[in-house]
Amino acid sequence: MRRAYFPTVVLVLCGLSGCSTNPATGRSQLILVSSAQIAAMGEAAEPEMTQQYGGEVDSLQLRGYVDRVGQRLARHTEPAYANIQWTFTVLDSDVINAFALPGSRVFISRGLLQRFTDEAQVAGVLAHEIGHVTGRHVDERLSQVIVANLGLGVAVQSTDSDLALLAVRLVRTGTLLKFNRDQEGEADEQGLKYMTRSGYDPHAMLDVLEILAEASRGPRQPELLSTHPHPESRMQNVGRLLQGHYRGTQDNPEFRKYRSRFQQEAAPYLPSSP
Ligand SMILES: [Zn+2]
Repeated sequence: MRRAYFPTVVLVLCGLSGCSTNPATGRSQLILVSSAQIAAMGEAAEPEMTQQYGGEVDSLQLRGYVDRVGQRLARHTEPAYANIQWTFTVLDSDVINAFALPGSRVFISRGLLQRFTDEAQVAGVLAHEIGHVTGRHVDERLSQVIVANLGLGVAVQSTDSDLALLAVRLVRTGTLLKFNRDQEGEADEQGLKYMTRSGYDPHAMLDVLEILAEASRGPRQPELLSTHPHPESRMQNVGRLLQGHYRGTQDNPEFRKYRSRFQQEAAPYLPSSP
């Protein structure tokens, strides 16, 4: 009966001011955790996740390059997110993955970067992850898990360290970082917006999805598809937006792929693609 229980709780909580309007998407969401609590959870989960993917890459050039792309995008998020301290970490792992931990900690694997040929593709992945953060998808997921597993009374009384422990467990089991179809669509929509605001060609988002589709035909399924499922609906959604709302970006010199910058500033520090 849990499935029936949760919507009832959501309705009651929304009526009691548990819901807030998201500054990036304008959508009403049930969020039971504060931004400070979310940030503390991300801090608690970060060391284990970083270690699980081989730690941070040694190359300071590569670290700096990805951070520059990420910070450029982050500067174009909504004013409500202006004071967030974003971090962008390159994981020294061959797997193809990217994710955002609770808070504003974005990760991309070396294995994914090795597949790319231009900077707009890097921006596409980072902008999608930023979109999950500004869409408050982890906060929303965590709030649902708290209500479903602990009950509202326990959730309200939980200390920050209780919640941090819960977050570590949920990150470890993958519960917290797996998004649904609507959240994936929303992260892409936000991502395309941040890309174009930053001067990137948004068509690179479709390139990324095609690279993932190609990689998924290989011997090893990209892990990114397990944390970010529904690639077919993502392709359709992004394709539709590119032909509609973003049609003016096609062959428009204002929106660039920055291929040579990627080739000069990132590619030399990446082993060649497997
Ligand atoms: Zn996603």
